[in-house]
This record gives sequence, C-alpha cells and structure tokens, in this order.
Amino acid sequence: MGEVSDSKSSLFPTYARYPMAMVKGEGSRLWDDQGNRYLDLMTGLAVTSLGHSPAKVKEKLVEQLDDLWHVSNLFHIPNQEKLARLLTDNSCMDAVFFCNSGAEANEAAIKLARRYHQKVLGTGRYEIITFKQSFHGRTLATLTATGQEKVQDGFQPLPQGFVYAPFNDAEALAGYINDKTCAIMLEMVQAEGGVRIADPAFVKEVAKLCKEHNLLLIVDEIQTGLGRTGKLFAYEHYGIEPDIITLAKALGSGFPIGAMLGKEKLTEAFTAGSHGSTFGGTPIATAAGIATVEIIVGDKLSDRAAEMGQYAVEKLKAKLEGHPMVKEIRAMGLLIGIECTRPVADLIAEIHGHGVLVVSAGPEVIRLLPSLLVTHEELDEGIEVIGKVLAGHTMAVNE
Ligand SMILES: *Cc1c(COP(=O)(O)O)cnc(C)c1O
Repeated sequence: MGEVSDSKSSLFPTYARYPMAMVKGEGSRLWDDQGNRYLDLMTGLAVTSLGHSPAKVKEKLVEQLDDLWHVSNLFHIPNQEKLARLLTDNSCMDAVFFCNSGAEANEAAIKLARRYHQKVLGTGRYEIITFKQSFHGRTLATLTATGQEKVQDGFQPLPQGFVYAPFNDAEALAGYINDKTCAIMLEMVQAEGGVRIADPAFVKEVAKLCKEHNLLLIVDEIQTGLGRTGKLFAYEHYGIEPDIITLAKALGSGFPIGAMLGKEKLTEAFTAGSHGSTFGGTPIATAAGIATVEIIVGDKLSDRAAEMGQYAVEKLKAKLEGHPMVKEIRAMGLLIGIECTRPVADLIAEIHGHGVLVVSAGPEVIRLLPSLLVTHEELDEGIEVIGKVLAGHTMAVNE
C-alpha cells in the first residue's frame, strides 16, 4: 500500500481501515495507489450515488468556484434558495435548513422538535423515541439518539431525553409514549443496523400514534434518501407524511452538505438566532447539491434504482439462496443486505481482494450500495465475485 503503511500514522485511530489507499475514481471504478482497479459497490457509504466525479456536478462546482466560494449566512444565498425549492418541490416538505453532515441534520431535527414543543405549542415536552439498532450520528445528541450501546460506550453522561423502542414492534410502541414525548425518530431502513426494513404496519402505527399524541414524526433519510431505495425518499413507500426529514450523504455527490426539511408549521420554531452553522449551505456546497438533485430527479434515477435493485436481488438470490451461510437477502432499491449466519469481516476482505468493494452493516450483513448509475454488467461482475467467495466458505460457522 506504499507510503501510508510505511510510517506511523498521525491520525487518531478512529477507523479500522481497509488496507488500501484510493487515489482516483470514475463512475463505479476506483483505483488504489498501486494501480489496482476496483468495482465500487459501496460508494463511500451511499455518498457517491452518481458515481465518482460526475461530469455535470463537476461543471457546476467549477463554475461556482470561479464566482464565489463562501459568504456568511447573514446574506441571502441564491443557491440555497434554489436547492431548498428543488427539495421542497419534490417532497411533502416546506422549508429547509442547510448544514454539513448527517449528524448535524439530525441534531437540527432534535433541536427543532424540542423547540417547537417548548416555544410554539408550549407543552414543555422534550423526549424523543428512537429505535434499537438505529443509527443517527456521532455528535453527543445523535449518538444518544442512536440505539446502539457500542456507539455510546465511554461517552457518559449522555444528554437526557431519548428512549429506545424495539424496531418493527407496533404493539410495544404506545408503551413508550408519555407526557414528555415530543417526537418519534426513525429510519425506514435501518442501514447501519443491518439493512432492516420497516414493516408497513409498524410505520402506519408510528404515524397514527404521532397524530394521536401530537408528536413530530422525524424520518432519518440520510442513507435512504435521494433515490437510493427506488423512490426519491423512502417515506414515499409507506404512504405517510413525516413532519421532518434529514438528508446528507448523497446530497452533494461527495461534497459535504446536510439538510433538514420540515413542514410549514415548524418554521415558527426556528426563528432568527435560534440555530445556525457557519458553513451550512455555502454557495459551493449548494451548487453541488443543485446539480446532484437535478440529475437524480431529472433522469428519474429513483426508478432506475428500483429496477437495478430488483435485478441485483434476483441475481443474488439465484446465486446464493440455499447456501448454508446465507440467512436472508433484504433490499429496498439499491440498498441491499446479505445477512449471513456468521461474522462477515473476512468474507468482505476476500471480496475486496477480488477487486469488488462492499461493506458490512453490523457484524453479519454484507451491504451493497452501488451507484444509482451502476450497469447490469457491473452488477453481474460484483455478484459473480460475491458468489465465488461465498462458495469457498460452506461452513455455517466461522471455521
Ligand atoms: C451516515 C448516517 C448518519 C450520520 O451522517 P454523518 O454525515 O456521518 O454525520 C446518520 N443517520 C444515518 C441513517 C446515516 O446513514
């Protein structure tokens, strides 16, 4: 791997990194510093949804670099208005707050839910119900919203006001609501949590309880949003309307940008001075966002993700079903999980060794997050390798 491994790293070791260093990307291909070529079926964890270096996004970015990089949010920023309009025109939402990451988008959602209940409704409520195995980010509030002890380990005391209900358990949910509850926050597919898809009946119950108890429904679409699941937003599969959704990952095609979208009634709670971000929605970040969303919407990439996802799942099932190590194949569009009966870290390393990049989702799930522009041939190539590697491990337990 060249220079990177030769000397001691000056970085905090917060990541268990794969032993490669990527230096170039184009479409679904990546190249490492040794000249090896890879098929990228993980897209930086659902970030490079248009593939690497998409030409139209690059063009918009370069144009914007010539004009203006940064200006304070104390000024009007036309690109922000334009991207916000694109997002609200294509969702059930009315207003947008821009930030720089997924965690910040969820942080904004948590703050907005509390402030709406405290300043607009005057109920004083602050508690948010989230779900076990969820993932909402790494800031103190969002790691507390995350229903995984390993993410919270060592960071006590955690902020108050979060409770964790079992995911997909419609009957248990009502028992978690009390006179302090202000919101329910969930992912339509728990992606980091193992590609676990919300049951329609469960989501219906969530929406019903939110209405009955005047709770805000927050849907974390950071991984599922922007076409990934076969709709522009995953909530559209369920026939519900959240009050708040959060976006990041694919929004800038790799340029950092996050967004929180909310219903009109919530604008009263985020008044001037109540929330902010220096870099939130800079002219450059929003230029990347505009170009990305225009392509995803204009080229109907949600429909493409639905079709390609179905194709991939059929191929995977044909190849892997009946394999003693494969427990279940789950997918919504191009968010695909292969649950195994044992830890998958060594399998993933082996798949990487054959030039195909996939990632885990929890210890026992192999996750595929291909570009929304992935071709049939590329999927065939990746699935062939996954099939070959799994065929070499027929034992149900880790040998
Ligand atoms: C990645 C992710 C986040 C956190 O986003 P960051 O940009 O890493 O802060 C939050 N929620 C979900 C569902 C995610 O997939």
